[in-house]
Amino acid sequence: MAAEDDLRSVTLNDGNSIPRLGFGVYKISPADAERAVGTALEAGYRHIDTAALYGNEREVGRAVTASGLPRREVYVVTKVWNADQGYDSTLTAFEASMDRLGLDYLDLYLIHWPLPARGKFVETFRALAHLRDQGRIRSIGVSNFAPEHLEVLIDSTGIVPVVNQVELHPRFSQAELRAVHARLGIATEAWAPLGQGSLLAHPSVAEVARRCGKTPAQVLIRWHIQLGNIVIPKSVHPERIVGNFEVFDFELGASEMSAISSLDDGARLGPDPRVFDYTGR
Ligand code: NAD
Repeated sequence: MAAEDDLRSVTLNDGNSIPRLGFGVYKISPADAERAVGTALEAGYRHIDTAALYGNEREVGRAVTASGLPRREVYVVTKVWNADQGYDSTLTAFEASMDRLGLDYLDLYLIHWPLPARGKFVETFRALAHLRDQGRIRSIGVSNFAPEHLEVLIDSTGIVPVVNQVELHPRFSQAELRAVHARLGIATEAWAPLGQGSLLAHPSVAEVARRCGKTPAQVLIRWHIQLGNIVIPKSVHPERIVGNFEVFDFELGASEMSAISSLDDGARLGPDPRVFDYTGR
């Protein structure tokens, strides 16, 4: 984890690379999304994480285009929503996402949730592989997959997803799943990296922040980076968007890393993917 390149980007199992620190846009309204993504791109973020579910793909695409940055310099991720799982419906959902994004290719497409009871994630992933083979998507991955879902997916398709984007923060640090990812060559991507804001006032985090002369959010983002995660914090406030990217000018020592890691009490904020079966929009 020493080289600056390793801190800034991750080489995926298909040879492509992804910026390690991205900008998440869950619950950013369409009215705010174009400005927020524009601010993020100006601040230096080169990776935007959206989803069909978030209802802001159009604004994300507009901000990417309006930035004037060459398309190859911005890494765009979206996700196929639960209701659209299945081979043909995924192909249709992908075209709808691309129409909204207004882009001619996608960097990374994820299956949003496995929905194991429906038994469709294998055919959904085959559709992603088809789109990748057609050159529409550069890399394909999953989100919220438990080890048993990864195993079925890989055994059935022979393809290892490049990333698994999962709930991960100091109170739910997913050590076992990270070990599975390391063995399989899957990059770990953390959603709710700040505990959706709930960890920012924790006294241990505040204490490390005080010692480092950084904000609690910066400390948590740096903890993810040093742990080896891809991390996608969200904010709508310009000063927070900018501040959350200022994490490459300090380092957490071993005792600071373990002070934060010791907060793990297994507390999930979101649903358990083994039973989650929601297909509403
Ligand atoms: P997060 O942990 O990034 O927390 C975001 C919240 O933290 C903000 O709403 C704000 O309240 C607070 N915050 C952020 N920066 C701050 C700062 N500097 N100071 C004070 N408060 C600050 O939570 P998230 O948005 O749920 O997760 C990040 C991204 O992960 C999402 O935007 C989305 O892209 C992705 N995500 C994916 C899934 C999935 O199922 N794949 C689920 C949830 C989120």
